[in-house]
Amino acid sequence: MKIINQDYKKGGTQKTFYELNDLQDINCLNCNSDKKSRVHTEFGNIGIVKCKNCSLMYTSPRPKNVELNYHGDKNKYYEEYKYIFNGTKPHHRDKNYIQELNIIKKFIKKGKIVDVGCNAGRFLHFAKKFGFDAFGVEPSKSLAELGTENFDLIIENCKLENSSFSKNSIDIITAIDVFEHLTNPLMFLNKSYEILKKDGILVIKIPNGNYCLTKLKIAKLFNKNTLNMDIFDSYEHVAHYSKKTFEKFINNTKFKIKKIYAPIPIHPPVWTITNDQYYLHTSPWTWDWKKVIMRKMFHFIGKIELLLRLPMYFQADILYILKKRS
Ligand SMILES: [Zn+2]
Repeated sequence: MKIINQDYKKGGTQKTFYELNDLQDINCLNCNSDKKSRVHTEFGNIGIVKCKNCSLMYTSPRPKNVELNYHGDKNKYYEEYKYIFNGTKPHHRDKNYIQELNIIKKFIKKGKIVDVGCNAGRFLHFAKKFGFDAFGVEPSKSLAELGTENFDLIIENCKLENSSFSKNSIDIITAIDVFEHLTNPLMFLNKSYEILKKDGILVIKIPNGNYCLTKLKIAKLFNKNTLNMDIFDSYEHVAHYSKKTFEKFINNTKFKIKKIYAPIPIHPPVWTITNDQYYLHTSPWTWDWKKVIMRKMFHFIGKIELLLRLPMYFQADILYILKKRS
């Protein structure tokens, strides 16, 4: 079967090229310093920078209204998700969601779970099957409606800080691949602290900024044109936390880190249009075997890095279990 590796039908508003006037300059999200050095440039003019004061990598200049990327057209999103909604195709992140829920079960067996930035609710769809009382928060109206209508979920269409949950009422809050999208992560953490029960857990999974640096080095080694490569997801990721900079960030908050995991990598499917498969559907690993093998190998090294408490450069994502400081 012919594979067409080209753009896919998508609901979001991300672009592949950003002019300078699409962008805005930003100070460090952690320490507000404006002193930074450029690490990389992608999607035209978006910058990846490193703060000279606290070492956090973040995106600057970044797209204006960067958090509105997911406020796309509902019908286009439906086209993207329809086979997943009707149960005929899996989501390419299903394995990841199930692993994350199995990790959560080790800490809390039942109770109320709030998934922040729940997209169309696929993770919560599984959380219900795992026996949790599932609630979602999703700022994109299109995605919140699709999750409510198709997965029969309760999803509030807002940011967590504007949600209606009572104080000390939630057992588990999850931010799966969401924290790196937040332009004001402290507001998210403060609200999480308020609504979590005393023994509740906050689960944050982030892409590892240092892994992006490894990908960048490898691409340069092979003389790839990195300007056209999607290495940092910088049209939507506002910060690129490493293990070190994330932990530094959390240490200044009312949360403490209870446990760290090196979860299995996400395998995005090959983009195809020939068989009516879009981005969110899985594709056979044989179509993308080089990347699949590479990710598995890096993940293996990543688990060793975590075990030996080394700085992590090979693990794609890091999952944290946080608890309230007492
Ligand atoms: Zn800083």
